[in-house]
Amino acid sequence: MKTSIHIDAYKVPIVHRPDVCVVGGGAAGISAAIAAARTGKKVLLIEKYGFCGGATVAGLSGTICGLFNSGDVKREQIVFGFADEFYSKLKQRNGVVKPVDFGKTCLIPHDGLVWKELADDLLQSENIEIRYHTNFLKAITDESGKVTALIVKSFEGQFAICSEVVVDASGDAEIIHNIEGETYSGASGTVQTPTMIFKMGHVDMEVFLKTSPESICEKVEEADKAGDFKLPRHHVYAFPLPNKNEVICNMTRITYPDGTTPLGISSEDMTYAEIEGRKQAREYADFLIERISAFKDAYMVDTGAQVGIRQSRSIVGHHQLMNEEVYNAKKSKSAISHSAWPIEAHGSGDLKIVYLENDHYDIPFETLQPTIGNNILVAGRCMSAEHEALASARVTGQCFGMGYAIGAAVSLMLDERIASQKLKGEDVLYYMKQHQLKNSYE
Ligand SMILES: Cc1cc2nc3c(=O)[nH]c(=O)nc-3n(C[C@H](O)[C@H](O)[C@H](O)COP(=O)(O)OP(=O)(O)OC[C@H]3O[C@@H](n4cnc5c(N)ncnc54)[C@H](O)[C@@H]3O)c2cc1C
Repeated sequence: MKTSIHIDAYKVPIVHRPDVCVVGGGAAGISAAIAAARTGKKVLLIEKYGFCGGATVAGLSGTICGLFNSGDVKREQIVFGFADEFYSKLKQRNGVVKPVDFGKTCLIPHDGLVWKELADDLLQSENIEIRYHTNFLKAITDESGKVTALIVKSFEGQFAICSEVVVDASGDAEIIHNIEGETYSGASGTVQTPTMIFKMGHVDMEVFLKTSPESICEKVEEADKAGDFKLPRHHVYAFPLPNKNEVICNMTRITYPDGTTPLGISSEDMTYAEIEGRKQAREYADFLIERISAFKDAYMVDTGAQVGIRQSRSIVGHHQLMNEEVYNAKKSKSAISHSAWPIEAHGSGDLKIVYLENDHYDIPFETLQPTIGNNILVAGRCMSAEHEALASARVTGQCFGMGYAIGAAVSLMLDERIASQKLKGEDVLYYMKQHQLKNSYE
């Protein structure tokens, strides 16, 4: 057995040989790891931060969207499966508040620390090996298209992971990009704007809960137009957190001065977005303290550990979720999740929200099946989708569903020796049933 591998001119040791290696510990990555482990596979999950949660926790996005129906009907949960399991377990740990209205649907604010703790506990209880502070660097492939090794970097230096199958849950399609799979970014390169989310503490919650979201938006616009504060985004969100007097603020909009949007996959763009994000967060916090009575005695607790990136690379998949499929609530035989979350497209000049009226669309398995490689699938927001379709499908409720189905799919690949290119969505759904892995609409 080989104990090292040559990369260009140097050798690195092979340290892990799991059945499945999941890269990325966001909602999609942890679900994929857990589903694969529940079918008896030896799973390793690597994550560049020291905790799971990705955009939800490091980016402080702070709410689970996509679990409920939408329209002028009674609010009902329509997405279950692993998303519901995670939500229920957060609830048991007092890590959520009850669903909060969001236009014609609703969402569930949660506590980031409880999210991290729950992810640790679930992964450990399934005997999943976790390597935090481990950054994917490079993939090695053979002539058949198999990813034979993932070269990563951690405190020890560089080492190799040789797994039978790989899940790219990096959000940025890092592995697919690295093996030269085709990817694209948004609509002709224009992606949704990043947001630096921040948390306010010592908010008067009684007053906050009586303050209408519209009135905050109106005051933001007024203050910006009067030149009192620099507040580029007028349609802002603020949600109560379980910690009694804390509010999560999704308010900033980060663009370059010429209106172009920084991309989350360039160090120059990310540095600009982090610094500009913190400046804007401070400006919005000062505005809230001065102009919104619930925040009179409040203070800014912190910003996200990283700026929130809604969209970076999308893979070219066996199926691309089209905008029309979302608008027309299209159903699929290989659905791995329902979604009634609106198209919520954060542009550089506006925020476009289009609700699904009393209906939902399906996310087909094939949107996560790249057209390259034979032992690799993706999960989460780097799915194959048109710009507006992704502006709906990318939310956490759906990422949980995507990850769980992909965890099942890689297990099926291992059990039946099927290449990722040959997998059929319906077979993945059948395999989930056989192994009591609940699909997200069961
Ligand atoms: C500003 C903002 C607000 C949002 N608001 C909401 C909301 O209110 N509700 C909601 O449901 N959704 C919201 N979303 C969307 C949602 O948070 C994300 O789309 C979803 O969490 C994506 O999950 P994911 O697992 O696909 O990717 P991510 O959460 O991005 O996870 C990817 C993981 O991979 C890790 N990783 C990346 N590269 C590497 C590497 N090279 N090596 C090792 N690890 C790596 C990352 O650190 C990360 O943990 C928001 C997103 C943003 C940006």
